[in-house]
Amino acid sequence: MMARTLFCPRCFCERNASPIEYDDRFEIHGYTLDVRIHAYECSACGEELADPDDPDLMRPVHEAYRLASGTLAPDEVRAIRERTGLSQVGFATILGMSPATVHAFEHGRPLNIKEDNLIRLAGLPGAARFLLALRGHLLRPGQRPARMPPMLKRPADD
Ligand SMILES: [Zn+2]
Repeated sequence: MMARTLFCPRCFCERNASPIEYDDRFEIHGYTLDVRIHAYECSACGEELADPDDPDLMRPVHEAYRLASGTLAPDEVRAIRERTGLSQVGFATILGMSPATVHAFEHGRPLNIKEDNLIRLAGLPGAARFLLALRGHLLRPGQRPARMPPMLKRPADD
C-alpha cells in the first residue's frame, strides 16, 4: 500500500495517510485469532483509518475466524437461504432467529458453531419444507416462498 490522501474523521478533513501494519489478537466465539491488520494512519493526528478500497477493518479477522472454525461464509449463508426460496425474514422466522441476525450473517457477522449448525441443517433437502410445516403459520402471506422448498429425495424417485 502507498501513502494517499484520506478523510480523517478526527481532523475532519482530507489528510496525508501512511500505510501501517500490525498484528493484533482477537477473540471471536471462543477462538483466539492473531491477525495482521493493514490500515492507514493520519499523518497529522495518528488516527487509524480504514482502506477505502477495503473499508471493513474486521473482514480479515472474520476470515481468520471462519478458517479456524470451519463456519460458513456470508455468501454460503445466502446461498443456503436462497435454495429454500425464503426471504431473510421468512428464513429467520422459521428458524426462530431475528431477521437482523440473518441479514448480519449474510453481510459478514461470524456465526458461532450452534448458529452454523442450524443454518447448515436448514439447508439439507427437506429441512426447510419440514420447518415450514412446523412453523409456517408464523409467516405472513408475503413471506411464504413462491415455490415449496425441495422435498427429501427418496431413492425410488430416481
Ligand atoms: Zn487526523
